[in-house]
Amino acid sequence: MTRRACSALLSATALAATISCGGSSATAPTSATTTPTNSGGIIVWPQPAIPPGLSSSLTTMLQGLTVYFAQALTSLQTDLPRNPQLASQFQAKIVILQNEQLAVDIVNAHRWFEGQATSTNARVVPIIVVFPVEGMRVEAADAVHALEPTMPLLERFYNLPLPVSVVRVWYGFVLGNSSGGGTIYSEDRSGYELRTTSTRLPYDAILTHELGHTYMGHESLNQFLELYTYNAVRGASTDVRSWSYTRSWSPGAPSNTGVSALLDICQLIGFDAMQTAYRAIYPLHPAYGAVLSPNVIDAFVASVPLAQQPAVRAKLDSVGF
Ligand SMILES: [Zn+2]
Repeated sequence: MTRRACSALLSATALAATISCGGSSATAPTSATTTPTNSGGIIVWPQPAIPPGLSSSLTTMLQGLTVYFAQALTSLQTDLPRNPQLASQFQAKIVILQNEQLAVDIVNAHRWFEGQATSTNARVVPIIVVFPVEGMRVEAADAVHALEPTMPLLERFYNLPLPVSVVRVWYGFVLGNSSGGGTIYSEDRSGYELRTTSTRLPYDAILTHELGHTYMGHESLNQFLELYTYNAVRGASTDVRSWSYTRSWSPGAPSNTGVSALLDICQLIGFDAMQTAYRAIYPLHPAYGAVLSPNVIDAFVASVPLAQQPAVRAKLDSVGF
């Protein structure tokens, strides 16, 4: 499974890729380390008994709790030295994960929430969130409610049913956000908003962004869907000029790159033509961490009216990662 790091943090993954989901980045590494609480340096979480009668998708997530804990703990301990300005936040997450009763506590306290969205092909897609501490319960449910209306918007845009059968959200175990294969690894809203400024990417936009990666790897192309779905859920039309949140887009500026260049294109050709172009390039799977390839640019340009092709190509050449 490809996992995309979409965080303002410096992570082991993000070091080799674009860090592009808003906020400030980290500074130089330090020698900070963490030590597991138990002897031997390895946390062993008892595997909890999973109650009968739960949905199969939730049961699968709960059966994977301890595997995910190990991944999350390793990720936090690896990324902490690269983000010394966030040391206390990292340590707080590490302490949560170092609780050897965490899996048992999650199961006993039913720390999950299940929602769903109905696909354009009529199947019901479960959207399940699991969270580590009781104080996240309301926010975790809110995350599901933010994702529910996003899924059909993405499906209609691409004219394709969501390419996974379930959306899983591991909520609040880590700092930063990443996703892959319909699984979202998200920071909790409160923690994110406490450590960022008012110019931050809206939290719900992070969630829609990560779900958007289910279709689109390329970061800037996916950011356009993030902005569309975020604004559409809030009642905006498909006219990009009406969108209240645009990642600081200056319409038409010659210096525009990334998603700003894509917004320029949408303003030029219209939303329906933008949608048609995305459907044309989708089978080419524009990759995360790579500039737009010539064949992607050619396929996009070929789908727009001849008179607009030179301007669209010039903007696409500026999109980058
Ligand atoms: Zn991303």
